[in-house]
Amino acid sequence: MLYTAQDISERVSSLARQISDDYRDSRPILIGVQRGFICFMADLIRQIAVPLDIDFMTISYYSGSNASMVRITKDMDLEVAGRDVLLVEDIVDTGITLNYLLNHLRSKNPASLKVCTLLDRKVRRLIDIKIDYVGFELPDEFVVGYGLDYHEEYRNLPFIGIPGIKETPDNKPC
Ligand code: 5GP
Ligand code: MG
Ligand code: MG
Repeated sequence: MLYTAQDISERVSSLARQISDDYRDSRPILIGVQRGFICFMADLIRQIAVPLDIDFMTISYYSGSNASMVRITKDMDLEVAGRDVLLVEDIVDTGITLNYLLNHLRSKNPASLKVCTLLDRKVRRLIDIKIDYVGFELPDEFVVGYGLDYHEEYRNLPFIGIPGIKETPDNKPC
């Protein structure tokens, strides 16, 4: 066990307060990245006190020993141009996925573009990216639960924990 349901709930409330304050004159679009975002986004939006829109993107991510690849398999539906966009991620690890998504969203000309991630594992970062809202800074351990999976298992755990497997570049799941 790394973060209990209570730890997560307190942190999510505090992020939601900050976001409500920063977007008090706006109606942001929150974009979730399937599928790990599910618990975080569901809890977060219920505590945000400003009107908002939600949308989703689905990506496929492959990381092998000598290449990483991100591909969008379902783009968002809402029009982004001129809107304040907040990208909601479960975890930022190397930053490869986030960098790809930010470039994609920037090309749609939003009025502003910010990032909120529940988990940030800075020690493995390959691309330096500014993250506006961070739930927890993770140690160098692969984690599951609260939406995050290991080969599609454990997403429904109400807490975040370390599953007792060691992730390597070759077995890193999507
Ligand atoms: P990136 O390396 O591009 O920053 O992260 C890519 C994706 O790898 C994340 O969106 C997430 O789906 C997955 N990932 C990275 N670290 C972890 C982890 O500790 N646990 C789980 N379940 N997925 C992870
Ligand atoms: Mg993700
Ligand atoms: Mg996964």
